[in-house]
Amino acid sequence: MRIGILGGGQLARMMALAGTPLGLRFRFFDTHADAPAGHVGELHVGAFDDHDAIDRFCNGCDVITYEFENIPAHVVERIERSHNVCPGSHPLRIGQDRINEKNFFKSCGVDTHDFLAVHDRASFDAAIREIGLPAVIKTTRMGYDGKGQGVARTAAEADALWNALGASPLIVEKFVKFDRELSAIAVRASSGDIRFYDWTHNTHHNGILRISRAGATPADPAAATTARESIATAMARMNYVGVMAVELFEVNGRLLFNESAPRVHNSSHWTMDGARCGQFENHCRAVAGLALGDVAREHDCAMVNLISRLPSIDSIATIQGARVHFYGKSERAGRKVGHINIVRHIDMSYSDFEQSLARATKLAEDTNT
Ligand code: AMP
Repeated sequence: MRIGILGGGQLARMMALAGTPLGLRFRFFDTHADAPAGHVGELHVGAFDDHDAIDRFCNGCDVITYEFENIPAHVVERIERSHNVCPGSHPLRIGQDRINEKNFFKSCGVDTHDFLAVHDRASFDAAIREIGLPAVIKTTRMGYDGKGQGVARTAAEADALWNALGASPLIVEKFVKFDRELSAIAVRASSGDIRFYDWTHNTHHNGILRISRAGATPADPAAATTARESIATAMARMNYVGVMAVELFEVNGRLLFNESAPRVHNSSHWTMDGARCGQFENHCRAVAGLALGDVAREHDCAMVNLISRLPSIDSIATIQGARVHFYGKSERAGRKVGHINIVRHIDMSYSDFEQSLARATKLAEDTNT
């Protein structure tokens, strides 16, 4: 079976690395000839609006999936006329607009903080008055890794953000003084089987994920159950097949929906080395119509992102429990170029695990910009 992946970045690459041992074959479509997935499978290069290039790519693929959510939804809709696409265009349409996304997840029972849609200066001023300062102002579309957004603490800052972002439709959100950021990672098979990986605790800096730790225990178990049930409802309503991530803010036990990603996700990279079947293999299994793998966590595990520059492989090799994942990308400020998973095997003490994590974090901090 051949899986076609729209996008040839590190997520596509890690899907292929996980799915190839299952006998699956991979083809990627990307706008760049140096896309890192090209090192591990057949890369087609073209523009997403080039119908002929997309058709050549799809021809011979048994199923199509995608590795990023900003692919034009109409491109995926067109492919769906002739091919099975998982998770499909419906989740893309919902997720590509923050207002649609929040309203949809709310309608499925997910708790969320206050937000208002803005389309002109008058509705912006009214939203700031109603939500109050500080507020977070984001473009409704095409935002990622903290781009297209900012926090307004004063009227002057709100004004400046309006000037910077106001040309696009916006969402004004209440600024949440969260205790922690958590993510829920789920995988759903076409049979309707849904499984959740362990809750993950995420630490961001400048809007970019830095560290994810597996096995976070939500403060309120009832809120955690409700969140999972609501996410399962959302996935079932979208007829979703594959891995999905949901980022939530934890505040006094409440779990407030921030955003979702209809794809494998950076906060679940720990599952590659810490779970019985990692997110990349499980996504492949789901879209290929195979039975899902066991999502149970096997080890304590944490992931450290490598951003902008890579530390030397030698410096990582001496860290006990470190598993290295370099993406084969050229180094550039703010770019995710790799990650390190720190795994606590049974013969490793908790303090050695923490020490290894501290060493990996320090290496990342020295090279991240
Ligand atoms: P997003 O692009 O929505 O994931 O936002 C990137 C990061 O900005 C989040 O991971 C949070 O750390 C922070 N952030 C986003 N929205 C809010 C909010 N309403 N209140 C507080 N922090 C936020």
